[in-house]
Amino acid sequence: MMSVDPKTTFFRPFRGGVHPRSYKSLTARRSSQRSVLMPEKLYFSLQLPNGAMLKPLVAVGDVVTKGQKIAEGTSPMLAPLHSSANGQVVDITSHITAHPGKLKSPTIVVATSNDLSWSRDYHSRSIASLTADEVINAILEAGIVGLGGAGFPTGMKAKFARQSQVETLVINGGECEPYLTCDDRLMQEQSAQIIAGIRLLMIATGAKRALVGIEDNKPLSLETMTNAASEDPEIEVHSVPSLYPMGSERHLIKALTGEQVPLGGLASDIGILVNNVATAHAIYQALRYGRPLVSRLITVSGKGISQPCNVEVPLGTRVRDVIAFCGGLTMDCERLIFGGPMMGQVVTDLDIPVGKTVGGILALTSEEIGDCDSKECIRCGQCVRACPMGLMPFMIAANTRASEFEKAEELGVKHCLSCGACSYICPSHLPLVQYFQHAKGVLNQRSSAVQRAERAKQLATAKTARLEEEARAKQAAKEAKAKAKGKARGSRRSARKAETAKEGDV
Ligand code: SF4
Ligand code: SF4
Repeated sequence: MMSVDPKTTFFRPFRGGVHPRSYKSLTARRSSQRSVLMPEKLYFSLQLPNGAMLKPLVAVGDVVTKGQKIAEGTSPMLAPLHSSANGQVVDITSHITAHPGKLKSPTIVVATSNDLSWSRDYHSRSIASLTADEVINAILEAGIVGLGGAGFPTGMKAKFARQSQVETLVINGGECEPYLTCDDRLMQEQSAQIIAGIRLLMIATGAKRALVGIEDNKPLSLETMTNAASEDPEIEVHSVPSLYPMGSERHLIKALTGEQVPLGGLASDIGILVNNVATAHAIYQALRYGRPLVSRLITVSGKGISQPCNVEVPLGTRVRDVIAFCGGLTMDCERLIFGGPMMGQVVTDLDIPVGKTVGGILALTSEEIGDCDSKECIRCGQCVRACPMGLMPFMIAANTRASEFEKAEELGVKHCLSCGACSYICPSHLPLVQYFQHAKGVLNQRSSAVQRAERAKQLATAKTARLEEEARAKQAAKEAKAKAKGKARGSRRSARKAETAKEGDV
């Protein structure tokens, strides 16, 4: 294990980036509240964030136990759902989801009981001799997805990483978004479990080493994680500068290894797999205790909430129940956000249940939001200096506004991370990220239309070829039949001739 060495702390490991006001002190120094929040009802949406639908395994009236699988998909790419409480299914109904268009989806509603215990717990389960396949299968069965926000099933990610023979595991302890401190608290409070989870991920992926990156504004996490990894020479804990967006995969990789993920490529192209500290913790829980993913630590913060804190939220808890647990909203709360303020998503309804990818709920006042009317671009170039992808945001925005989407594409809008660094720094308060999201949406629609047209063309060509082939085969069969008929007629004629000649001889 390497100690935290100042030499490994890079001053500015990538170009661009910003230093937004952190607001982390609202929650960073308070211990997280675990196993205390349990609402009367839980809402498990059967629709995954990617639109795929799960099949319910329970019916109204069924008694369920904490950790029981209640819905599953048709492939391992769809993580199963488990009940986060003991209780009874009281409804399967249409309920609001986190979709920005306020879409509803079929949802299992569980009335919870007062019994908060796990129905099963394998305290003595040994993890020392597990094989890669055993670890991967247990992760898949536990319904674990990337808790950093990506939501991709971690077991499949590990399986693909193994197939592409990744060498290095990068563990993201960056948590660069303002306000969010749940990973910081988790690292301080559960460091040994996180390190054990990283070791399990190394078994699953076959990676030879793991590099944990923690921003230098989290000294206690750096210390506890360094101590927890002190007996494992293959797990290194490094300090990285607190610079937004350090939590982005490609930028953390650059900071920790000096290597660059190719544009449009994947981390696995350079032999690296990235996972988050909370995911490593969930993996340990699944392998050590047989506990599926049924809750997660989230940050509830902002000046619009009465008691900001980090709290373990059972999956399926509605936003309104989390807010009530944290003392309610203040009178001047203006906006609720899932995630951080830079990349988060506006909460459109208090009845939306918390899903696996939600790392924070922010209640922001108008002072914190700082909404101002946008003005004309003054070509100051600050957005260019801030962009960690080396793009020219003001030019992409100008072309998007003029509906010149091909030019926006030429300028690299598809490589934009939507990190919001440019919008944050812009003195004219231009909604740059919204422009880029619009441009990306239009370009994606166009490329899907082109793909559909291409597919239709391929199908039409294949159909014509098949019809031609069938016609050729029919013709060949006809000819063969005619030939066979002719041959048979010829043989009969020859036989008759021979018969006549025989009769003449007699
Ligand atoms: S920071 Fe804003 S005002 Fe300055 S160049 Fe970029 S878009 Fe224009
Ligand atoms: S949102 Fe896109 S254009 Fe703006 S700084 Fe981030 S990567 Fe660059």
